[in-house]
Amino acid sequence: MKINSNFDAGNIHVIEAENPGNIRLRIRHDHNSDFYQWFNFRLTGAKGQLCAMTIENAAGAAYADGWKDYQACASYDREEWFRVSTVYHDGEITIQHIPESDSVYYAYFAPYSMERHHSLVSQAAEHEKVSLHVIGETLDGQDMDLLTIGDMAVGKKVIWVIARQHPGESMAEWFVEGFLDRLLDDEDALSRSLLERAVFYVVPNMNPDGSRRGHLRTNAAGANLNREWENPSVENCPEVFYVRGKMDEVGMDLVLDAHGDEALPYNFIACFDGIPDVDSAKLDLAYDYQRQLMQFNPDFQMEYGYPKDAPGAANMTIGTNQMAHRYQAVAMTLEMPFKDTANCPDPEQGWSPERCRKLGYSNLDALAAIIDRL
Ligand SMILES: [Zn+2]
Repeated sequence: MKINSNFDAGNIHVIEAENPGNIRLRIRHDHNSDFYQWFNFRLTGAKGQLCAMTIENAAGAAYADGWKDYQACASYDREEWFRVSTVYHDGEITIQHIPESDSVYYAYFAPYSMERHHSLVSQAAEHEKVSLHVIGETLDGQDMDLLTIGDMAVGKKVIWVIARQHPGESMAEWFVEGFLDRLLDDEDALSRSLLERAVFYVVPNMNPDGSRRGHLRTNAAGANLNREWENPSVENCPEVFYVRGKMDEVGMDLVLDAHGDEALPYNFIACFDGIPDVDSAKLDLAYDYQRQLMQFNPDFQMEYGYPKDAPGAANMTIGTNQMAHRYQAVAMTLEMPFKDTANCPDPEQGWSPERCRKLGYSNLDALAAIIDRL
């Protein structure tokens, strides 16, 4: 029996893995940072045995509330992910499972590897309406990929979608996969009509280094990208530096910034209520977008979410606030759960890659409903 995480997006430190009934593990923290919560490892040679895998340092994770009612994700083929019994007790989580195969993977959420990212980007780039621009390199020397869909023309709206500023929030890239699938479907009339009215700039992965290193929240230098939007430096945070530079160049009418939330079992959107120069018409439009999204996809709701910032109290280092202010844009942070949606749960899979993808489809419906008012 063996546990290993030395692969793309892997993360675990093995304390003890001699006895299947008492496997002891710890999650590695992000490089140069105290954050940790993402785990992703393979267990081999334990077919048919009851395995109890305890993560000893769960209580010190970034969002300990995230372990309450949480069920870990598991997969044999790395395509289909299901939930397994997980208990949070005395500051530790214990995953209990009898693997049906000699190779089984366990992760905080269905991983979206950098290998899959490369497949996503190269497949999208084959479409005639898509161009791929590498707008810079990360600190580990990976490419920052930007997909442009459609041609810029007078009167067209500029729509941005960015995802995975926080690399452990892999649901964000599953969401982008669904969004792109539908947008690039030539037989989808709604997508065709949107592309007549808008050009799309999509960054499927804002944080390739954190993703490949198996980080929860930061890049290779330990920077939390979503606190770098006011004044990003190329030395510490080239990811935001290059993307914001491109945004300055092409402008923005609307942006979706896709994330995952560890604690709340809901899909929700956070807006820019607290920015100093808030445009109330734009803010109304952001809320109308959400009402539309809720109609198109009941996995989305507006009752539960983050408390709104008081007027003028927004943290301007956060992407959504900075982009709303800088471009007078409708800027929205879309949060998806790690656990499941409490209002329409799926006990087998929980919140899952396929549901992320479907939410990506539905965002195009919501966008179509409001785009002419941008
Ligand atoms: Zn996030």
